[in-house]
Amino acid sequence: MEDRMKYDVIIIGAGPGGIFSAYELIKNDPKCRIAVFEMGHPLGKRICPIVAGKTKSCIHCKSCSIMSGFGGAGAFSDGKYNITNDFGGTLYEYVGKQEALDLMKYVDQINLQYGGEGTRLYSTAGTAIKRTCIQNDLHLLDASVRHLGTDINYIVLQNLYNELSSKVDFFFDTPVKSIQAKKDGSGYLAICEDQEYDCRRMIVSVGRSGSKWMERVCREMGIPTESNRVDIGVRVELPATVFSHLTDELYESKILYKTQKYGDKVRTFCMNPRGVVVTENTNGIITVNGHSYESAEKQTDNTNFALLVAKHFSEPFKDSNGYGESIARLSNMLGGGVIIQRFGDLIRGQRSTEQRIRESFVTPTLNATPGDLSLVLPKRILDGIIEMIYALDKVAPGTANDDTLLYGVEVKFYNMEVEVDRTLQTKYPGLYIIGDGSGITHSLSHASASGVYVARNILNA
Ligand SMILES: Cc1cc2nc3c(=O)[nH]c(=O)nc-3n(C[C@H](O)[C@H](O)[C@H](O)COP(=O)(O)OP(=O)(O)OC[C@H]3O[C@@H](n4cnc5c(N)ncnc54)[C@H](O)[C@@H]3O)c2cc1C
Repeated sequence: MEDRMKYDVIIIGAGPGGIFSAYELIKNDPKCRIAVFEMGHPLGKRICPIVAGKTKSCIHCKSCSIMSGFGGAGAFSDGKYNITNDFGGTLYEYVGKQEALDLMKYVDQINLQYGGEGTRLYSTAGTAIKRTCIQNDLHLLDASVRHLGTDINYIVLQNLYNELSSKVDFFFDTPVKSIQAKKDGSGYLAICEDQEYDCRRMIVSVGRSGSKWMERVCREMGIPTESNRVDIGVRVELPATVFSHLTDELYESKILYKTQKYGDKVRTFCMNPRGVVVTENTNGIITVNGHSYESAEKQTDNTNFALLVAKHFSEPFKDSNGYGESIARLSNMLGGGVIIQRFGDLIRGQRSTEQRIRESFVTPTLNATPGDLSLVLPKRILDGIIEMIYALDKVAPGTANDDTLLYGVEVKFYNMEVEVDRTLQTKYPGLYIIGDGSGITHSLSHASASGVYVARNILNA
C-alpha cells in the first residue's frame, strides 16, 4: 500500500501542461512512476449543464466542466495552437527563442500524430494583409497557427488519454489541497482530501482555474510571485463575411492598435471564424469567450473575436485580477451573467433590448442579457474599444455597423508570475511550476511546450 502511493513524479493538473509533461516523461522513461491529480472529471464526463441544455445560466458546479478535467481549460477550446514568440506567453525568456519555437513545433507534431493530421496550418508570412493593417495604423503580429478546431482537439485529447492511461496513474475528481516539502529533502507530498501522496519531483500545472490555489501555495511555501496585469474588453460578433478575407487566409489575426486618445494598447484576441460565443466561469465569475468548429455542420454565419485593453498597474496596487473580477462582477450583477449590446446602441448611449436584438441583422449565438456595457466598463477601456472598432472598420468594412454585437465582459486574467529559474524550477529543488499557472504561458502551445521542456529537464537531471 505504502509503495503504491510513492511516485517518481507527481503532476498536478491534467491540462495541456500536465498532459505533455506526462507524455514526454513516459515516452522517454517508460519505467517512470507518474501520478496525475486532476480536480475535474475525465474527458467524457466533462458536461457543462448549459451546453447540455439543462440550464440557461451558470449553476456554479463544484468543478466547472469547461475549465477543469482532462484537457484543462483547452478541452473545448477552438484548439488554435499558435507557434510564435510574439504572443501566448513568455516561455522564450526562460528557454531561448529558438528552443521555444522548436518545443511548440514538437507539440504540433504530436498533435498531428494523435488525430490532428490533415488540419490546416495558417501563417502570416508574406501576407498582404500586414501592409493593409499598417496603412490603417493597425499592426498584425507574426504567427503560424495550427487550427485543430474544437472537434479534432477533443479527438486528440481522447487519443492522448488512451495512450497515457495504462502507463500513468490518473486521479480524477481529486483536488490537491496543498503541497509540502518533505523534511528530509527527499521530495514532496501532495495532500488530498483523505490521503497524502509522495514523490521525488513535482510538476504543478494548475492553469487559470488554479490561480487562487497557486497564490496560496506560493504564500505558504514562501515562493515569490508578481502580478500587475489584466486585460479587459468585450467579445465582438459580426457576420462572418465581414472578416472572411482575413480569416480565410490567416484564420486568426492578432491585430494591435494604440489608441489616439490615451495611447493604450487594444488587441484582437481569440478569433473564431463561423464560431459561437460561450460563457466561461472563472472562480465563480461569469465572463465571455468563443469557440469555433472545424466541421462544416457546426459552423455558424458569424465570426467572433475579443477586443481587449491591457491594463498594467503600478505600485502600490497589486491585485490586478481582483480589479478585472470586480468589473466582471458588475456585469454579472446587472445582467445575471453576460450582457449583450448592439454597437449602434452603445454609440447612441442607449441600452439594447430584447426587441432591438431580435430585429438586429446579426443573430446572437449566445443567449445573453440585453443591456448597456457603458454601465459596466470603465470609460477609458470603452473608449479604447470603440476607437479600435472604427480602426478595424477600415480593414474590414462592416465592423462598425450598428448591428455588430458586443458581449461583456471578456476578461483575460493573468496568473501572477511565479519566480522560477531557467528550468522552471522554484527555489525548492525538484518542484516545477509550468503552464498558465506559472504566469509564464497563456496559451495551448506555450503551456504544452513548457510541459515537454520540464519533462526533459527532469529526464536529464
Ligand atoms: C474557452 C477557452 C478557449 C480557449 N481557446 C484557446 C485557443 O484556441 N488557443 C490557445 O492557445 N489557448 C486557448 N485558451 C487558453 C488555453 O486553454 C490555456 O492557455 C491552456 O489550457 C493552459 O494550459 P495549462 O495546462 O497551463 O492549464 P489548464 O488547461 O487550465 O489546466 C489546468 C488543470 O489543473 C486543474 N487543477 C487546478 N487546480 C488543481 C488542484 N489544486 N488539484 C488538481 N487539479 C487542479 C484544473 O482543473 C485544470 O484541468 C482557451 C481557454 C478557454 C477557457
